Amino acid sequence: MSTQNPVFIPGPTNIPEELRRAISNPSIDHRSDTFVEVFKPALAGVKRILKTEAGEVIMFPSTGTGGWEAAITNTLSPGDKVLAARHGMFSHRWIDLCQRHGLDVQIVEADWGTGTPVEEYGRILAEDTGHEIKAVLATHNETATGVRSDVAGVRAAMDTAKHPALLLVDGVSSIASMDFRMDEWGIDIAVTGSQKGFMLPPGLAILGVSAKAIAAMDAAKCPRCFFDFRDMLATNASGGFPYTPPANLIRGLNVAIGMLEAEGLDQVFARHHRIAEGVRKAVAAWGMELCAASPDLYSDTVSAVVVPQGKDGTEVVKLAAEKYGVPFGVGLGEVAGKVFRIGHLGSMTDVMALAGLATAEMAMVDLDFPVKMGSGVAAAADYYRATAG
Ligand SMILES: *Cc1c(COP(=O)(O)O)cnc(C)c1O
Repeated sequence: MSTQNPVFIPGPTNIPEELRRAISNPSIDHRSDTFVEVFKPALAGVKRILKTEAGEVIMFPSTGTGGWEAAITNTLSPGDKVLAARHGMFSHRWIDLCQRHGLDVQIVEADWGTGTPVEEYGRILAEDTGHEIKAVLATHNETATGVRSDVAGVRAAMDTAKHPALLLVDGVSSIASMDFRMDEWGIDIAVTGSQKGFMLPPGLAILGVSAKAIAAMDAAKCPRCFFDFRDMLATNASGGFPYTPPANLIRGLNVAIGMLEAEGLDQVFARHHRIAEGVRKAVAAWGMELCAASPDLYSDTVSAVVVPQGKDGTEVVKLAAEKYGVPFGVGLGEVAGKVFRIGHLGSMTDVMALAGLATAEMAMVDLDFPVKMGSGVAAAADYYRATAG
């Protein structure tokens, strides 16, 4: 496979040259001031990206999954009840992780292609007058289906029910690419990783943690050691780390935040929206539909394209990789084979997106999909032409 081609998987995303250089550094002593000078600005920078002033940032050498585990184990005890919705592979995996830690998960089953069921959450929280539910989980962007959920709506439902549970949000494929407001939305823990919106290789779990979540830390009985917030907070205060930090990635994170802020966060979100709109125009021109059930749910970072009856989305992904050297995402879980996914987050431009759409078209035409060669590319190109600059 050509490594010159961009990837269109929703993480790991394309790594800009500037970031490849930023993480290529000799070793530094992580007990030295040199590390403090790298680490402190990274903590402050992530706070700006998450839009939190009240919260703390905690990073682990891990990935998004480790971030889920840290969020759960530092705030909850085995047997605690948590409310979660299953509407895709990532929300499913977080539920599975909670269950393996002995939590009692009240699961709302929702159609794959829909978002966090805010009204159902509101009803359940209002009925929970004894406040048995200790945490409410939401997957802001369900990467398996290309669905964005209404986290502000979840917060409003919790407030309406006057429910004191913690709000834990998976923002792995939205943070730094789509509008995300930790303080305004009353999020207690926000989770992401280095390899999605931050455009870095995998290796960092990045969390925003509210004062309320920190206050729950000492009473939380879930076992943890590597992921213990207490060790992190104690050492982070002076710019240190309780064990060996991935200093190169943290250095890269500073540069990534610099790139995002130089572009402007609002412009970053607008770019993702425009690129996603072009992809959606292409999908419509192919005569196909997205897995996301309605436009208000459309994700600006990943599109899950439903393939026609009798066709297999996994074949599109296989052929695109083997014949053209371009990675797309396969369908996962309930939508395996039924969709293929186009990741369009992180370091992405109109021109890159057009290359991905052309490749998807070639693969689909090769596989006798009822798609007219060039139709999607033309629709996206028209849109990009009209909206560029
Ligand atoms: C990628 C992703 C994860 C998992 O993160 P890893 O870094 O693979 O552990 C979790 N949630 C969402 C929404 C994701 O997109």
